[in-house]
Amino acid sequence: MARKEDCIFCKIVAREIPAFVLFESESGLAFLDVNPLSDGHLLLVPRDHYERLSEVPPPIAAELAEAIPCLGRALLAATKAEGFNVLLNEGAVAGQVVPHVHFHLIPRKSGDGLGYRWNAGAYQTGRAEEIAAAYKKAMPDI
Ligand code: AMP
Ligand code: ZN
Repeated sequence: MARKEDCIFCKIVAREIPAFVLFESESGLAFLDVNPLSDGHLLLVPRDHYERLSEVPPPIAAELAEAIPCLGRALLAATKAEGFNVLLNEGAVAGQVVPHVHFHLIPRKSGDGLGYRWNAGAYQTGRAEEIAAAYKKAMPDI
């Protein structure tokens, strides 16, 4: 199993430091976030150490993604939340602090005061076409 010494989430996977583990599969583990944005905020991580989602092999990514609806149903039942956010911060620029890829599942209730800036913009003429073409060039195999 690929692990990185001194990675806090590798240590949780190896049960070297404590965590409230909620779920385990062949590829992944879910546990409570120690500093939750709301009660029941959980993290879903691969067992192997990958820093970023964009580095995770498709079968492992698929197995992690497969667990999200089930974890979401458990979250709703366990926390009585009305909904939840699934969040992944890729890279420090996006807010990633722990460099072992993890999905956040964050329970949401009306009036909980959580949220983030969603400064939506609009494309100038021709820009969406340029971006779409760049995407197509970047993923010829998909
Ligand atoms: P991110 O900013 O996306 O890298 O989020 C890292 C998350 O890991 C934060 O929400 C932390 O509260 C959480 N975290 C850090 N250390 C631990 C730990 N030992 N056990 C559980 N959650 C942790
Ligand atoms: Zn790790």
